[in-house]
Amino acid sequence: MKTLVYVDHVDGVIADATFELVALAQSVGSSSVEALVCAGNEEIVEKVAAQLPGIENVIAASSSEFENYLPNLHLQCLNETIELKNPDLVLLSYSTSGVDMGSGAAYASNLPLVCYVTEMTIEASEMVTASQVYGGKLVANVKTPLPAIAVVMPGAIKSDLAKKDTTPAIETITTPTDTTNIKVVESLQPESGGIDLTKAERIVCIGRALGGTEKLPIVEELANTLDAEVAGSRPVIDAGWLPKARQVGKSGTKVKPKLYLMAGVSGAAEHLEGMSDSELIIALNSDEQAPIFSKAHYGAVCDMFHVLPVLTERLQNNS
Ligand SMILES: Cc1cc2nc3c(=O)[nH]c(=O)nc-3n(C[C@H](O)[C@H](O)[C@H](O)COP(=O)(O)OP(=O)(O)OC[C@H]3O[C@@H](n4cnc5c(N)ncnc54)[C@H](O)[C@@H]3O)c2cc1C
Repeated sequence: MKTLVYVDHVDGVIADATFELVALAQSVGSSSVEALVCAGNEEIVEKVAAQLPGIENVIAASSSEFENYLPNLHLQCLNETIELKNPDLVLLSYSTSGVDMGSGAAYASNLPLVCYVTEMTIEASEMVTASQVYGGKLVANVKTPLPAIAVVMPGAIKSDLAKKDTTPAIETITTPTDTTNIKVVESLQPESGGIDLTKAERIVCIGRALGGTEKLPIVEELANTLDAEVAGSRPVIDAGWLPKARQVGKSGTKVKPKLYLMAGVSGAAEHLEGMSDSELIIALNSDEQAPIFSKAHYGAVCDMFHVLPVLTERLQNNS
């Protein structure tokens, strides 16, 4: 089985989710794994290839037009590579580019597409997947004949790559020319606000259930007691209760602390994407059906406004 992986990278720094795709390709028994890299120049292609010893071939589209992410141009490259290579399986991450390109590639190649994939096996030329739907509240088990395209949730697959000594060969393809009028004017990095959640060993994350800033001191006191950073789910940031630098998730920061204590967070797929690699996940939620309970190592069905102050007091008194 031939598998093609689309590489998500910024200036040659590969996203963790791409390593997970390569590991997935290996674990489902691909006989060959190739990776498509769209990059601004050849040095970046080489930098990417050097980080992917688990694959046979890097298919490189390098041109100054690829310095920035242009959805149509990258999609055109992916479509042409699928036509050229005829892979049995095409893997993309559920990232900004993966979401953009998955459906476009399925349309152009007339291949079936499964999104939000969290598990995959290949059985008798069929792709058997579990997919999160309705923000993780339901899991859809889907069987799809190969060849097929899958858009895989970051963080769902363990990224232990099979060790290979060889660096992949680089095969250059002709790059298409952008025929749209999309131009990147400027790339802006989000303001850090002096906080780097990626370095935090302990995080207390609060969700929409906070309801406003009045009760934020309850959360901050627990965080201080634990020597932890306070973080929030997206609704907390959108409401302005915490600054953007404290958002965890798909459109926020991806964190891997030793302790991730979350209260009043439902556990939507976009939030899990940012924290599911945490070593110890503890969830407090008043709804026993909340999706987070299938991800947390420990959980309590409770009113967080009752439990958080008691927990702080116990920790302070060491009782
Ligand atoms: C493209 C895209 C990107 C996104 N990026 C992100 C992202 O980066 N980060 C992110 O977090 N989300 C992101 N989202 C939003 C995501 O889909 C969810 O809407 C969001 O994570 C829900 O936040 P929440 O769990 O705080 O709120 P809710 O889903 O409303 O959950 C609140 C939870 O609190 C519980 N609760 C209520 N009262 C109490 C109480 N007293 N005690 C205990 N528990 C209580 C409820 O049972 C519920 O489970 C994104 C969505 C999209 C489409």
